[in-house]
Amino acid sequence: MDKHARASTPATAAPRLAAWPGQAGSPQPGACRFCGASLRHTVVDLGMSPLCESYVSADRANAMEPFFPLHVWVCDVCFLVQIEEYVSREEIFEEYAYFSSYSDSWLDHCRRYVDQMIPQLQLKATSRVVEVASNDGYLLQYFVARGIPVLGIEPAANVAKVAVDKGVPTLVKFFGRATAREMASNGQRADLLLGNNVLAQVPDLNDFVGGLKILLGPGGTTTIEFPHLERLIAENQFDTIYHEHFSYFSLYAAERIFAAHGLALFDVEELPTHGGSLRIYARHAEETDRPLTPRLLDVRARELAAGVNTLSYYASFEEQVRETKRQLLDFLIGAKRHGKRIVGYGAPGKGNTLLNYCGIRTDFLDFTVDRSPHKQGKFLPGTRIPIHHPDRLRDAKPDYVLILPWNLREEIIDQLGYVREWGGRFVVPIPEPRVYA
Ligand SMILES: [Zn+2]
Repeated sequence: MDKHARASTPATAAPRLAAWPGQAGSPQPGACRFCGASLRHTVVDLGMSPLCESYVSADRANAMEPFFPLHVWVCDVCFLVQIEEYVSREEIFEEYAYFSSYSDSWLDHCRRYVDQMIPQLQLKATSRVVEVASNDGYLLQYFVARGIPVLGIEPAANVAKVAVDKGVPTLVKFFGRATAREMASNGQRADLLLGNNVLAQVPDLNDFVGGLKILLGPGGTTTIEFPHLERLIAENQFDTIYHEHFSYFSLYAAERIFAAHGLALFDVEELPTHGGSLRIYARHAEETDRPLTPRLLDVRARELAAGVNTLSYYASFEEQVRETKRQLLDFLIGAKRHGKRIVGYGAPGKGNTLLNYCGIRTDFLDFTVDRSPHKQGKFLPGTRIPIHHPDRLRDAKPDYVLILPWNLREEIIDQLGYVREWGGRFVVPIPEPRVYA
């Protein structure tokens, strides 16, 4: 569910009050969520930030908002990069009104995945495809259209209902060993078990991956997509860090975690989604008839050459992040001194990390716009920047449009070609602030 920051990124139905630190935290605060070692090494400290998906409705405009530390650690034993869990998954996800079907490019990605998997895994009318965090059926709908039986698992009841209404059977549950055992005992083991952008959002990683092992049928394949830590570090994607993303994976860490639960990664694809993701392929460790592919060996070797299993790899990230903040503020201050009008485009979770960390409010951005009707009329968490319908851009005729979902830069600049009619230009903040005519 990483709730892909896309051209439009819908919001929670209503803002929730979160638990305070310690109330919802892991049983051993400061311990690695995979191996249990003490967390002692900072990757980056982004200060205090509100929950990035807690959009503020107008009737709560005068209410306080809870802020939580956004402090990223790396474990010096397993090299899993992670933040502590300050807020329970129930608070974050049960009313999580993130509807995946709002981005055209994401839907294309999913359709291509289905077209690829059916022949590759020889899926047929007697197979079963199970998706964990199946959202509104954005992906499984394409398997249904091809006559392949599916089952979705989605904790947000309001989102699951949309899936069921479009013919995608969906179980309203959090996924872990207990759900997997129940499904396995009902004869619902999967030939293809997939999860897109959910692994990062799992507080109990061992329970989740242990559940995959239980639910995966004999000879079955698991595919899991997540943003690749290597790209986050190399391309300075610090805004993809937020409270809803508990873990940030290298292939190195993922292989160790899956292996600990009897699953072997045998293949990996590198994808352009979300600034650079991995799609890992796992099978039961004992089914050795599927050997490791050359491309898995390549990514593994590349990560080791870069030093993902050394602390020095993580040491310079924080200063790089601070420098990006200084550059972005330099640009915005300069533009405002010249009387320029700046607005935002998009209201993705990543935008909220960026704006809160940099301290950018309506002093710089008059407003932002988003295609999702679930966000329009609300305010960004923390910065309280108003979110309007995209039509507002034409009326405002801003000099600069700051594109918050930078991973969709080309798609958005294409859609907003009309901004050039009045001489408007586009600004993309990551990997470093850049202006596009
Ligand atoms: Zn660890």
